[in-house]
Amino acid sequence: MSTKINEDEQKLPEGFKDIRCIVCPTGCLVHVENVNGELIIEGHSCKRGEEYAREEFIAPKRILTTTMRVENGFLPLIPVRSNFPLPKEKLKETLKEIAKTVVKAPIKMGDILIQNVVGLDVDIIASRNLIEV
Ligand code: SF4
Repeated sequence: MSTKINEDEQKLPEGFKDIRCIVCPTGCLVHVENVNGELIIEGHSCKRGEEYAREEFIAPKRILTTTMRVENGFLPLIPVRSNFPLPKEKLKETLKEIAKTVVKAPIKMGDILIQNVVGLDVDIIASRNLIEV
């Protein structure tokens, strides 16, 4: 499959990327290229893959997973993650914010530990339960 999309030229990164689509187990290799302000997408087998590759080229996002310090917990650290994908360029700033934070046990899986982290509409949540000591 091949698609041409006219995007706002200012938003488009230069050059090209070969992106492995991870939306389904087929794992198509999708070629995305900015040709004079026109986005050319080739190698995808469906619309979902086209959308994934387009976003991965223009503004890649990731679910962030790390640990956070805990006071009076059974363990000194708790695994945490973002509840939605974050823009890649915000990951470092988010990690710094998490490193500055200390939470108190007990904590339940899914508890919001930092709300609206770095001004984005994304929360940092607990990935497990943690009892206090
Ligand atoms: S392009 Fe479509 S078929 Fe191919 S891996 Fe992505 S979602 Fe699956």
